[in-house]
Amino acid sequence: MNGMEQFKKILQDNGHSVTRSRSYIFELLASAGEPWPMHRLINAAAGKADRVSVYRTVELFEKLGIAQRINIGWKYKIELSEAFLDHHHHMTCLACGRVVTVKDEPQFETMIARLAGTNGFIVKSHQLEIQGHCNSCQPDAI
Ligand SMILES: [Zn+2]
Ligand SMILES: [Zn+2]
Repeated sequence: MNGMEQFKKILQDNGHSVTRSRSYIFELLASAGEPWPMHRLINAAAGKADRVSVYRTVELFEKLGIAQRINIGWKYKIELSEAFLDHHHHMTCLACGRVVTVKDEPQFETMIARLAGTNGFIVKSHQLEIQGHCNSCQPDAI
């Protein structure tokens, strides 16, 4: 089952219809390549879905586990959930806003599982957000 079919199935299984604007917003997120702030999604959807319906759609996607919110300070960005993307983490530049996607370090994943285990936990999911300054935004070395 490809991403679009899976997306339609999630909507239908939860009693929601597959509308053109929902499909379009899903496609935008699927081709985004990185988490998008709402204003970018709203701009990209212009002509197909208005601001209010973009917000409602994203809210529905979050509720159904289709998309998730990445909190960066008091702001957030949206990306598809791990049902659609491989597990990864983000590093966000505080100066230019660039988001670098990092695929997992197996050692790190193992460590999380172990840490959870010692606390009697079984991990379903986790997010790790790293903030700092990217290559181009680091102050010159002294
Ligand atoms: Zn930067
Ligand atoms: Zn991870």
